[in-house]
Amino acid sequence: MKIQDIQAIQLLLASPKKIAIIPHRGPDGDAMGATLGLYHFLIKNNHQATVIAPNDFPNFLAWLPGSETVKIFERETQICTQILEEADIIFTLDFNAFHRTGEMEHTLAKLKGTFIMIDHHQKPDDYATYTYSDTSFGSTCEMIYNFIDFLNKREDIDKNIATCIYTGILTDSGSFRFPGTTGNTHRIIAELIDLGVENTEIPVLLFDNSSFSRLQLLGRALQNMKIFEEHKTSYMTLTQEELDSFNYVKGDTEGIVNYGLSIKDIVFTAIFIENKEEGIIKISFRSQGGFDVNQFARDHFNGGGHSNAAGGRSEVSMEETVQKFEDLVKKLTL
Ligand code: 5GP
Ligand code: MN
Repeated sequence: MKIQDIQAIQLLLASPKKIAIIPHRGPDGDAMGATLGLYHFLIKNNHQATVIAPNDFPNFLAWLPGSETVKIFERETQICTQILEEADIIFTLDFNAFHRTGEMEHTLAKLKGTFIMIDHHQKPDDYATYTYSDTSFGSTCEMIYNFIDFLNKREDIDKNIATCIYTGILTDSGSFRFPGTTGNTHRIIAELIDLGVENTEIPVLLFDNSSFSRLQLLGRALQNMKIFEEHKTSYMTLTQEELDSFNYVKGDTEGIVNYGLSIKDIVFTAIFIENKEEGIIKISFRSQGGFDVNQFARDHFNGGGHSNAAGGRSEVSMEETVQKFEDLVKKLTL
């Protein structure tokens, strides 16, 4: 972050402010960890802070300290709009374009407060007065740690803040194995553990928390997997009918895409998940090594993300979507 920006933010935060903190739609561990970590920090510094999520967060994150205070824009649009309109400062965390908040984008675009963006995705929009955007970080949570450090407030990081930050670093780094994971990441993690983070319990809460039907849904996705050996690519599909038959609840499909990369010599994978209510196929892309799935998602599926993990969407049928993907894959040399 630029030194002038840090000084300006220090000045801004020197007196109590009304602050709204926003994660992206479909918030994941990093988005919820970052917003709640910052929330605890701001409350500790006498600000009036509220986390407003565009829609609900998955149940496997409900144990995060402070999650009970999170307001859901989709559910309480009127009160959330009021909080947003009254906010002096609006932090947007783990995303960099208003449209990533869905319907909330129209409300955000009209706000008069000062925007501060902290994010690690590519190609940030320029809506924020202060932008801390850096794609070299594996998680926004690692940047939240740095942000608190830039403000000279590291001593404020207590067990609650540490727990939130730890969760986002853990989930967004694929348990410390994705390329953004550095020595610094591990030094921060070490410090968070020293602050009391339950580092053996959190992975259980996050990952060993499946219902039986979720595991059966995973089984179905694996059975649906197709492999294009010559193109080092695999993909899976889940239709709305399949989701319904396994009593799908939000969060159940989280992480399934990664199984597509766990096959020897596969370096590119995708999962196509039908959402009848929204009339779309939601897509997750993952790659290992040099193939840039962010670019692929941008070019072909109206999406984006990072070079090894991205997402997109399609508004045509599952069959047509998958056909388009197969045609593209057959032109790839990976
Ligand atoms: P996931 O596949 O876990 O939903 O998302 C992987 C990464 O891609 C995340 O960093 C997420 O923010 C980003 N991403 C997912 N879907 C979209 C999308 O539709 N548009 C953009 N720009 N990014 C996305
Ligand atoms: Mn993230």
